[in-house]
Amino acid sequence: MRSWLEVSLGRIRGNYRAVRDHVNDSADHPIDVMPVVKADAYGHGAFEVARVLEDEGARWLAVSNVEEGVFLRRAGIHGRVLVMADFLPESRAALEEFGLTPVVHSLEDVKQVEVPYHLKIDSGMGRLGTRAEAEAIVAAVAANPSSLEGVMTHFASSANFDSRQTEEQIEHFEGVLAALRAAGLAPRYVHASSTNSIAYQRRNAWGNLVRPGHAIYGYVSSAKGAPRAQLEVRPALSWKATVLAINSVPAGARIGYGGIHTAERPMRTAVLAAGYADGIPHRLGNRGQVIVNGKFAPIIGAVSMDLTTIDATDCPELKIGDAVLLLGEQGGVSINAQQMARMAGTISYSVLCGINSRVKRVYVE
Ligand SMILES: *Cc1c(COP(=O)(O)O)cnc(C)c1O
Repeated sequence: MRSWLEVSLGRIRGNYRAVRDHVNDSADHPIDVMPVVKADAYGHGAFEVARVLEDEGARWLAVSNVEEGVFLRRAGIHGRVLVMADFLPESRAALEEFGLTPVVHSLEDVKQVEVPYHLKIDSGMGRLGTRAEAEAIVAAVAANPSSLEGVMTHFASSANFDSRQTEEQIEHFEGVLAALRAAGLAPRYVHASSTNSIAYQRRNAWGNLVRPGHAIYGYVSSAKGAPRAQLEVRPALSWKATVLAINSVPAGARIGYGGIHTAERPMRTAVLAAGYADGIPHRLGNRGQVIVNGKFAPIIGAVSMDLTTIDATDCPELKIGDAVLLLGEQGGVSINAQQMARMAGTISYSVLCGINSRVKRVYVE
């Protein structure tokens, strides 16, 4: 194989349990966990991930759009599936046919929805959700006999404890909930928290359902002004690429597109069978590193579409056909998606979702 991911289903299970225990250990009411498996489970493979999560007892899964929900149903996932960002007119027949639960974003849509739904409140994120006044929300919900099963919101800055934005969002959300309850329209589920507000213990935002994505795959973003995250999760994937060629290049030789690297000494280079089309950020050219037999080796020259070159001078044992590690841990050193993202000037979410489908997914325990 040119390049492949090893996804540890054991780690996915462990991360799910860690989140479940973390939110339930200190709560005075049961809190359900709805893992987010959108974007092919952040690149880990939605079907395999959904299957182990269901097996672990997850009663809900969240996806972004109807197509992702239909994919899970066709793969035999029978639990509840929340479609968070797709209530387009052309999607509605499939929502019903496949028993998917929509998130409805506007009061216009509340009038039209004919299946149990979750209503999204824009409490300050400024993206999807209704910004209507509480009374207007109550009136719209009351006018539609179809059931309001959940009320949700999403935070913009939940890892930033120097900002009051999350507190303000919670206040707004609580105001809408209070009005619904006062009108006898209390929903079965109230949810607002993704990984950051789970990990950084914003307990007043946990409701009775939480929506972790990043944490399920083993990541928690760093926070500003917050205590250390209490949640222990571990990255579930490692990413390998095969050595296609080993070259000896003389001092002064240039490497790759644009000739942006010049060998300062005679060098041994290794050409890896993965490039930006596979998801290696182009920005890692002359900047990133990989792991060769438990040691770091620098990426030299530009990352090209299908190939990446490393300096293997200090790895005399490396040969054609060997695998090197783009992400993962080996011999006490590791590169995770957050570190790769930092080197590339992006975020771990983007690194994970950017791993192309042509990179084979291999599942291990
Ligand atoms: C993606 C998403 C999540 C999961 O966020 P993480 O930071 O990955 O935990 C939760 N809720 C909504 C609405 C989302 O779009």
